[in-house]
Amino acid sequence: GRIVAPSADEIERAAEAALRPKRLDDFVGQQVVRDQLSLVLQAAIARGNPPDHVLLSGPPGLGKTTLAMIISGELESHLRLTSGPAIQHAGDLAAVLSSLEEGDVLFIDEIHRLARPAEELLYVAMEDFRVDVVVGKGAGASAIPLALPRFTVVGATTRSGLLPAPLRDRFGFTGHMDYYSPQELERVILRSSGLLGVHLDHAAAHEIAGRSRGTPRIANRLLRRVRDWAQVRGDGKLDLHAAKSALEVYEVDPIGLDRLDRAVLTALCTRFGGGPVGLSTLAMTVGEEAETVETVAEPYLVREGLVGRTPRGRVATLAAWEHLGLTPPGSADP
Ligand code: ATP
Repeated sequence: GRIVAPSADEIERAAEAALRPKRLDDFVGQQVVRDQLSLVLQAAIARGNPPDHVLLSGPPGLGKTTLAMIISGELESHLRLTSGPAIQHAGDLAAVLSSLEEGDVLFIDEIHRLARPAEELLYVAMEDFRVDVVVGKGAGASAIPLALPRFTVVGATTRSGLLPAPLRDRFGFTGHMDYYSPQELERVILRSSGLLGVHLDHAAAHEIAGRSRGTPRIANRLLRRVRDWAQVRGDGKLDLHAAKSALEVYEVDPIGLDRLDRAVLTALCTRFGGGPVGLSTLAMTVGEEAETVETVAEPYLVREGLVGRTPRGRVATLAAWEHLGLTPPGSADP
């Protein structure tokens, strides 16, 4: 339920579907990955062969699923979607693989969470286009090799470092996705507003983009909330006033911090003089679990240069004091 969460649930994914770009040319930003991928795809199309397997790595909400859909769209092939956690047993994966057709794209989200036996089955399938179907049990078990049509795996992972080397090596191309610039996010939401059939002015797009934490999913979500506000409390116009008012209601501040982020930052500055303070003490002060503070609030605060992690604990940077409008201790009194 966190409005600045980078991940999405099934209901939100359904709302997102309408906003997904369908072609590589409509995909905003990620210039490097787009260029590289475009070469891989064009070469494969020219040769009339499925392309190498593609690994996409990067934080949630940056467009990995969207790119997988674009790949299959550009190749005019069928897309099959599954995920690491959805495949409990090697047999589940064998069933998916044996139903593939020539040229299909198999998208495996969170591929770093595949169970070991499934992972081993996947190595062979990716390399030799073969799956060994085990029949029988115990000493009498035997493996019957089943040839697979040529297909392309698109794997997505938020943690490419967690992928075992043998699996990583089977991908001919790895695209690293990074956070979007505010200008790129502006283009994402201007495009989305067009698809939603609402007029968003540039000042409003700029405001929403600046609060979206470098993540298109968050940008689109904030856009939907601004649209609600404009419809219910405003005059229907998605302008700067609507953007600011809506995001105030949802407690998303001008740089995209939510209530928890600000509570952590405020406690760090006002209760602990800017630190250093241990994570558990800090968490207790804001009434949260240490894990929540560490995994939910801290990554963005660190990324924004507002909080530093030192061996002695968390510290607030000068930017944190400035953001809260506070004077750090030791500054000369005016
Ligand atoms: P997860 O890892 O949580 O599955 P993801 O990286 O696969 O996330 P997507 O589901 O592809 O992210 O994208 C989230 C939303 O952001 C979608 O609505 C998608 O249309 C939009 N989006 C992502 N990247 C772009 C982009 N470059 N241009 C336009 N819209 C984008």
